[in-house]
Amino acid sequence: MEESKEVKCLDKGFVRLVDHMGSDARIVQTARVSYGAGTKTVREDTGLINYLMRNDHSSPFEMPVVLLHIKAPIFIARQWMRHRTSSVNEISARYSEMKDEFYHPETWRAQSSTNKQGSFGIIEDQEAAILIEKNITEDAYSRYKDLLDLGASREMARAILPVGLYTEFYWQQNLKNLLHFLNLRMDAHAQQEIRVYANAIFDLIKPLFPISVAAWEEHVRNSVKFSPKEIEVIKAVVEYMQSEDPRILRSIKDKLGLQY
Ligand SMILES: Cc1cc2nc3c(=O)[nH]c(=O)nc-3n(C[C@H](O)[C@H](O)[C@H](O)COP(=O)(O)OP(=O)(O)OC[C@H]3O[C@@H](n4cnc5c(N)ncnc54)[C@H](O)[C@@H]3O)c2cc1C
Repeated sequence: MEESKEVKCLDKGFVRLVDHMGSDARIVQTARVSYGAGTKTVREDTGLINYLMRNDHSSPFEMPVVLLHIKAPIFIARQWMRHRTSSVNEISARYSEMKDEFYHPETWRAQSSTNKQGSFGIIEDQEAAILIEKNITEDAYSRYKDLLDLGASREMARAILPVGLYTEFYWQQNLKNLLHFLNLRMDAHAQQEIRVYANAIFDLIKPLFPISVAAWEEHVRNSVKFSPKEIEVIKAVVEYMQSEDPRILRSIKDKLGLQY
């Protein structure tokens, strides 16, 4: 056991860095076994990590491992569990009585009219929405306690609790899949609540793997894919482009299969 850094998320949640294994140096060491080469300068190591990230030579990024302790509402944990390439151990609502801990949103966002999965802006009657949520969670929890008092099993009584209830789990991931998770869940298309957690994880892991995370930001997170039709338009523009940095222009033309 080593670190125990924690970032608060939503009203009662958190992400806590429990432990980690590996570093940028370990990624480089792993990659160099491919070529039988030894330690090089930091500049060369940074270049190698960027090369690996840019070219999807991903197995060296599978070597480091991060263990996190998460406290999140069940509806967020459910999205989280879709990321199958991880190890999870979650609190058992069969074994333990669940605490009266629900996510109470401060502000109710409105349904987006352009994105069926997303929200946009906020609803007008915040007070009414806050009251509906408060009443339903208070009632559900007190009825849960009533069922337990009647002698009902915890595994059955939990069935009446809403998905805003907080759960806790330990989550272990290798760096490659953790960055994949961040790429999907820091994105603007992901639900705002899970983005809060993804951003917290990003803040925790960036100091552990500064070169790899910077390379990921450069070559994955902040890069975009283009369709063939979009590429045709870009090609036409690039033909006439000038740049103060000829290397960048050369690299773009190279990727687009243009003469330079
Ligand atoms: C914005 C957003 C909206 C979403 N909406 C929905 C939704 O409406 N409904 C829904 O069900 N899900 C939804 N998802 C979940 C999504 O479809 C993925 O299941 C989830 O993001 C996990 O991604 P992943 O499979 O790449 O990750 P992981 O499960 O961690 O897998 C990592 C990688 O391993 C490989 N892999 C893992 N398992 C398999 C397999 N069985 N076969 C082949 N390759 C595999 C793939 O390359 C995969 O990218 C949504 C996700 C996002 C980010």
